[in-house]
Amino acid sequence: MSVAPYTYTDGQNHRLTLRPVTGHGGGEYVWVQAENLAVGGAVTNMWLSVDQVHALDVTLANRFAAEFTDHTGDTLAVRPTADFTPFEVTRAANDDGPAETVRVVVLTGRLREVRTALRNTVARAQGKPAPVNEALVQARAAAADMFEVEVGERRPAWRVVYTDSESATGVALVCTADGVDDVHHVIEDGPDGPVRDEQGVYDCCPGVQFETYSTVLAAYLVELLNADAELPAEHGTTGEKDTRGSAPQQGESTHPRPRALPEESFIRARERARTAAYFRGARTAADVITAPAVSSD
Ligand SMILES: [Zn+2]
Repeated sequence: MSVAPYTYTDGQNHRLTLRPVTGHGGGEYVWVQAENLAVGGAVTNMWLSVDQVHALDVTLANRFAAEFTDHTGDTLAVRPTADFTPFEVTRAANDDGPAETVRVVVLTGRLREVRTALRNTVARAQGKPAPVNEALVQARAAAADMFEVEVGERRPAWRVVYTDSESATGVALVCTADGVDDVHHVIEDGPDGPVRDEQGVYDCCPGVQFETYSTVLAAYLVELLNADAELPAEHGTTGEKDTRGSAPQQGESTHPRPRALPEESFIRARERARTAAYFRGARTAADVITAPAVSSD
Protein backbone atom coordinates (compact mmCIF):
# COMPACT_ATOMS: atom_id res chain seq x y z
CA MET A 1 0.00 0.00 0.00
CA SER A 2 1.55 3.26 -1.01
CA VAL A 3 0.92 6.15 1.29
CA ALA A 4 0.56 9.66 0.00
CA PRO A 5 2.76 12.27 1.63
CA TYR A 6 1.03 14.55 4.09
CA THR A 7 0.27 18.03 2.80
CA TYR A 8 -1.13 21.16 4.40
CA THR A 9 -1.96 24.26 2.37
CA ASP A 10 -2.51 27.55 4.15
CA GLY A 11 -4.75 30.50 3.28
CA GLN A 12 -1.94 32.17 1.30
CA ASN A 13 -1.60 29.12 -0.91
CA HIS A 14 1.65 28.01 0.64
CA ARG A 15 1.98 24.26 1.00
CA LEU A 16 3.80 22.15 3.53
CA THR A 17 4.65 18.57 2.51
CA LEU A 18 6.01 15.86 4.79
CA ARG A 19 7.55 12.79 3.20
CA PRO A 20 9.43 9.84 4.69
CA VAL A 21 12.92 9.41 3.22
CA THR A 22 16.01 7.33 3.82
CA GLY A 23 19.33 9.13 3.59
CA HIS A 24 22.38 7.83 1.69
CA GLY A 25 23.82 6.67 4.97
CA GLY A 26 20.70 4.67 5.74
CA GLY A 27 19.35 7.12 8.28
CA GLU A 28 15.66 7.86 8.37
CA TYR A 29 14.34 11.35 7.89
CA VAL A 30 11.25 13.39 7.29
CA TRP A 31 11.72 15.52 4.23
CA VAL A 32 9.98 18.86 4.79
CA GLN A 33 9.09 20.95 1.78
CA ALA A 34 7.50 24.40 1.72
CA GLU A 35 6.15 25.74 -1.54
CA ASN A 36 4.68 29.03 -2.59
CA LEU A 37 2.13 27.69 -5.06
CA ALA A 38 1.91 30.99 -6.95
CA VAL A 39 3.43 30.89 -10.43
CA GLY A 40 7.19 31.16 -10.07
CA GLY A 41 6.87 30.83 -6.30
CA ALA A 42 9.80 29.65 -4.26
CA VAL A 43 10.25 26.08 -3.06
CA THR A 44 12.45 25.23 -0.10
CA ASN A 45 13.09 22.01 1.75
CA MET A 46 15.09 20.49 4.55
CA TRP A 47 15.62 17.18 6.29
CA LEU A 48 14.47 16.41 9.82
CA SER A 49 16.14 13.53 11.63
CA VAL A 50 14.09 11.20 13.81
CA ASP A 51 15.41 12.95 16.92
CA GLN A 52 14.55 16.33 15.47
CA VAL A 53 11.01 15.20 14.70
CA HIS A 54 10.56 14.13 18.31
CA ALA A 55 11.99 17.44 19.50
CA LEU A 56 9.74 19.35 17.11
CA ASP A 57 6.72 17.43 18.38
CA VAL A 58 7.50 18.40 21.98
CA THR A 59 8.13 21.97 20.87
CA LEU A 60 4.77 22.19 19.15
CA ALA A 61 2.93 20.52 22.04
CA ASN A 62 4.27 23.20 24.34
CA ARG A 63 4.00 26.02 21.80
CA PHE A 64 7.69 26.85 22.06
CA ALA A 65 9.59 28.52 19.28
CA ALA A 66 12.46 26.47 17.87
CA GLU A 67 14.73 26.10 14.87
CA PHE A 68 16.11 22.90 13.39
CA THR A 69 19.09 22.75 11.04
CA ASP A 70 19.91 19.85 8.73
CA HIS A 71 23.28 18.61 7.44
CA THR A 72 23.16 21.03 4.51
CA GLY A 73 22.51 24.08 6.65
CA ASP A 74 18.87 24.40 5.60
CA THR A 75 16.50 25.14 8.47
CA LEU A 76 12.97 24.76 9.74
CA ALA A 77 11.79 27.39 12.22
CA VAL A 78 8.49 27.29 14.09
CA ARG A 79 7.22 30.25 16.09
CA PRO A 80 3.83 29.44 17.59
CA THR A 81 1.39 32.19 18.51
CA ALA A 82 -2.03 31.71 20.04
CA ASP A 83 -3.80 31.50 16.71
CA PHE A 84 -1.28 29.94 14.34
CA THR A 85 2.17 28.49 13.94
CA PRO A 86 4.34 29.55 11.00
CA PHE A 87 6.54 26.78 9.62
CA GLU A 88 9.43 28.56 7.90
CA VAL A 89 11.65 26.44 5.72
CA THR A 90 14.82 28.28 4.72
CA ARG A 91 17.34 27.25 2.10
CA ALA A 92 20.76 28.40 3.19
CA ALA A 93 22.62 30.77 0.89
CA ASN A 94 24.95 28.92 -1.47
CA ASP A 95 26.77 29.34 -4.77
CA ASP A 96 23.43 29.36 -6.59
CA GLY A 97 21.97 32.26 -4.71
CA PRO A 98 20.94 33.95 -1.51
CA ALA A 99 18.98 32.34 1.27
CA GLU A 100 15.29 31.90 0.65
CA THR A 101 12.43 31.26 3.04
CA VAL A 102 8.95 29.92 2.40
CA ARG A 103 6.47 30.30 5.24
CA VAL A 104 3.45 28.05 5.71
CA VAL A 105 1.02 29.20 8.40
CA VAL A 106 -0.64 26.33 10.27
CA LEU A 107 -3.77 27.29 12.21
CA THR A 108 -3.67 26.22 15.84
CA GLY A 109 -6.80 24.19 15.30
CA ARG A 110 -4.91 22.10 12.71
CA LEU A 111 -1.65 21.78 14.61
CA ARG A 112 -2.57 18.47 16.18
CA GLU A 113 -3.12 17.02 12.73
CA VAL A 114 0.30 18.24 11.55
CA ARG A 115 1.94 16.75 14.64
CA THR A 116 0.25 13.43 14.02
CA ALA A 117 1.45 13.52 10.42
CA LEU A 118 5.02 14.24 11.56
CA ARG A 119 5.00 11.27 13.92
CA ASN A 120 3.42 8.99 11.36
CA THR A 121 5.84 10.13 8.67
CA VAL A 122 8.85 9.36 10.82
CA ALA A 123 7.32 5.97 11.69
CA ARG A 124 7.02 5.24 7.97
CA ALA A 125 10.59 6.35 7.37
CA GLN A 126 11.60 3.81 9.99
CA GLY A 127 9.66 1.16 8.16
CA LYS A 128 7.04 0.87 10.85
CA PRO A 129 3.42 0.84 9.94
CA ALA A 130 1.72 4.09 10.73
CA PRO A 131 0.65 3.63 14.33
CA VAL A 132 -2.87 4.72 13.61
CA ASN A 133 -5.29 5.48 10.85
CA GLU A 134 -4.10 8.97 10.05
CA ALA A 135 -7.26 10.05 8.29
CA LEU A 136 -9.26 8.99 11.33
CA VAL A 137 -6.91 10.82 13.66
CA GLN A 138 -7.25 13.99 11.60
CA ALA A 139 -11.01 13.73 11.35
CA ARG A 140 -11.28 13.04 15.08
CA ALA A 141 -9.12 16.03 15.95
CA ALA A 142 -11.11 18.31 13.66
CA ALA A 143 -14.36 17.09 15.21
CA ALA A 144 -12.95 17.57 18.72
CA ASP A 145 -12.02 21.14 17.84
CA MET A 146 -15.54 21.73 16.55
CA PHE A 147 -17.18 20.22 19.65
CA GLU A 148 -14.96 22.33 21.85
CA VAL A 149 -16.31 25.44 20.16
CA GLU A 150 -19.91 24.31 19.98
CA VAL A 151 -20.44 22.49 23.28
CA GLY A 152 -17.29 23.24 25.28
CA GLU A 153 -16.11 19.65 25.38
CA ARG A 154 -13.69 17.81 23.12
CA ARG A 155 -15.00 14.28 23.71
CA PRO A 156 -18.72 14.49 24.38
CA ALA A 157 -20.80 11.35 24.93
CA TRP A 158 -23.56 10.40 22.52
CA ARG A 159 -26.97 8.77 22.75
CA VAL A 160 -29.71 7.54 20.49
CA VAL A 161 -32.79 9.77 20.44
CA TYR A 162 -36.32 9.47 19.23
CA THR A 163 -37.11 11.94 16.52
CA ASP A 164 -40.03 13.04 14.39
CA SER A 165 -40.27 9.55 13.00
CA GLU A 166 -41.05 8.33 16.53
CA SER A 167 -38.33 5.78 16.11
CA ALA A 168 -34.91 5.69 17.72
CA THR A 169 -33.24 6.90 14.57
CA GLY A 170 -31.61 10.10 15.82
CA VAL A 171 -28.18 10.66 17.33
CA ALA A 172 -27.55 13.41 19.86
CA LEU A 173 -25.15 14.41 22.58
CA VAL A 174 -25.93 13.04 26.03
CA CYS A 175 -27.77 15.69 28.02
CA THR A 176 -26.12 16.32 31.37
CA ALA A 177 -28.54 19.00 32.55
CA ASP A 178 -29.53 18.57 36.18
CA GLY A 179 -31.59 20.31 38.83
CA VAL A 180 -33.93 22.97 37.56
CA ASP A 181 -32.12 22.99 34.24
CA ASP A 182 -33.17 19.42 33.58
CA VAL A 183 -36.55 19.46 31.86
CA HIS A 184 -36.56 15.84 30.75
CA HIS A 185 -39.79 14.03 31.37
CA VAL A 186 -39.85 11.19 33.82
CA ILE A 187 -41.29 7.97 32.53
CA GLU A 188 -43.21 6.84 35.59
CA ASP A 189 -43.83 3.28 34.61
CA GLY A 190 -40.37 2.20 33.58
CA PRO A 191 -39.53 -1.46 34.24
CA ASP A 192 -37.52 -0.57 37.36
CA GLY A 193 -39.52 2.43 38.46
CA PRO A 194 -39.53 6.00 37.19
CA VAL A 195 -36.73 6.78 34.77
CA ARG A 196 -35.52 10.00 33.21
CA ASP A 197 -36.36 10.14 29.55
CA GLU A 198 -32.86 9.76 28.18
CA GLN A 199 -34.00 9.27 24.62
CA GLY A 200 -35.99 12.43 24.22
CA VAL A 201 -34.84 15.84 23.07
CA TYR A 202 -35.80 18.77 25.28
CA ASP A 203 -34.93 22.44 25.71
CA CYS A 204 -32.04 21.58 27.98
CA CYS A 205 -30.34 19.26 25.49
CA PRO A 206 -27.12 20.21 23.70
CA GLY A 207 -27.69 21.26 20.14
CA VAL A 208 -25.65 18.74 18.20
CA GLN A 209 -28.16 16.23 16.84
CA PHE A 210 -28.63 14.44 13.59
CA GLU A 211 -31.09 12.06 11.98
CA THR A 212 -30.01 8.73 10.46
CA TYR A 213 -33.41 7.37 9.36
CA SER A 214 -32.34 3.98 10.67
CA THR A 215 -32.47 2.50 14.16
CA VAL A 216 -29.61 0.19 13.26
CA LEU A 217 -27.40 2.96 11.93
CA ALA A 218 -28.21 5.29 14.84
CA ALA A 219 -27.26 2.62 17.38
CA TYR A 220 -24.09 1.81 15.46
CA LEU A 221 -22.96 5.43 15.13
CA VAL A 222 -23.55 6.05 18.83
CA GLU A 223 -21.44 3.01 19.67
CA LEU A 224 -18.69 4.18 17.33
CA LEU A 225 -18.70 7.75 18.64
CA ASN A 226 -18.66 6.65 22.27
CA ALA A 227 -15.95 4.06 21.68
CA ASP A 228 -13.93 6.77 19.99
CA ALA A 229 -14.38 9.11 22.94
CA GLU A 230 -13.00 6.44 25.27
CA LEU A 231 -9.67 6.37 23.46
CA PRO A 232 -6.74 7.92 25.27
CA ALA A 233 -6.39 11.65 24.84
CA GLU A 234 -4.57 12.74 21.75
CA HIS A 235 -0.88 12.12 22.18
CA GLY A 236 1.10 14.73 23.99
CA THR A 237 -1.83 16.82 25.07
CA THR A 238 -2.25 15.56 28.58
CA GLY A 239 -3.74 18.34 30.58
CA GLU A 240 -3.86 20.62 27.61
CA LYS A 241 -7.06 22.52 27.84
CA ASP A 242 -5.91 25.79 26.40
CA THR A 243 -7.24 26.06 22.92
CA ARG A 244 -7.13 29.81 22.58
CA GLY A 245 -6.31 29.51 18.94
CA SER A 246 -8.69 26.72 18.17
CA ALA A 247 -10.32 28.73 15.49
CA PRO A 248 -13.06 27.07 13.52
CA GLN A 249 -12.03 25.99 10.08
CA GLN A 250 -13.48 27.39 6.94
CA GLY A 251 -17.06 26.39 6.53
CA GLU A 252 -17.62 25.85 10.21
CA SER A 253 -19.91 28.04 12.19
CA THR A 254 -19.26 29.47 15.61
CA HIS A 255 -22.96 29.91 16.14
CA PRO A 256 -24.75 27.36 18.26
CA ARG A 257 -26.82 25.06 16.14
CA PRO A 258 -30.54 25.60 16.46
CA ARG A 259 -31.77 22.96 18.82
CA ALA A 260 -34.78 20.87 18.11
CA LEU A 261 -37.73 22.10 20.11
CA PRO A 262 -40.26 19.31 20.15
CA GLU A 263 -43.85 20.34 20.48
CA GLU A 264 -45.89 19.06 23.37
CA SER A 265 -47.93 16.80 21.16
CA PHE A 266 -44.80 15.34 19.67
CA ILE A 267 -43.30 14.76 23.10
CA ARG A 268 -46.43 13.00 24.27
CA ALA A 269 -46.58 10.86 21.18
CA ARG A 270 -42.97 9.91 21.53
CA GLU A 271 -43.39 9.12 25.18
CA ARG A 272 -46.26 6.81 24.38
CA ALA A 273 -44.24 5.10 21.72
CA ARG A 274 -41.30 4.62 24.02
CA THR A 275 -43.33 3.45 26.97
CA ALA A 276 -44.89 0.90 24.67
CA ALA A 277 -41.46 -0.11 23.55
CA TYR A 278 -40.36 -0.74 27.12
CA PHE A 279 -43.21 -3.11 27.63
CA ARG A 280 -42.61 -4.91 24.41
CA GLY A 281 -39.22 -5.56 25.82
CA ALA A 282 -37.77 -3.86 22.81
CA ARG A 283 -34.10 -3.18 23.34
CA THR A 284 -33.79 -0.91 20.37
CA ALA A 285 -30.87 1.23 21.35
CA ALA A 286 -32.05 1.20 24.95
CA ASP A 287 -28.76 -0.20 26.13
CA VAL A 288 -26.59 2.26 24.30
CA ILE A 289 -27.88 5.20 26.27
CA THR A 290 -25.98 3.96 29.25
CA ALA A 291 -22.95 5.49 27.63
CA PRO A 292 -20.05 6.08 29.98
CA ALA A 293 -19.78 9.50 31.48
CA VAL A 294 -17.68 11.89 29.50
CA SER A 295 -14.13 11.89 30.66
CA SER A 296 -12.66 15.27 31.35
CA ASP A 297 -9.58 14.89 29.23
ZN1 LIG B 1 -31.80 17.66 28.03
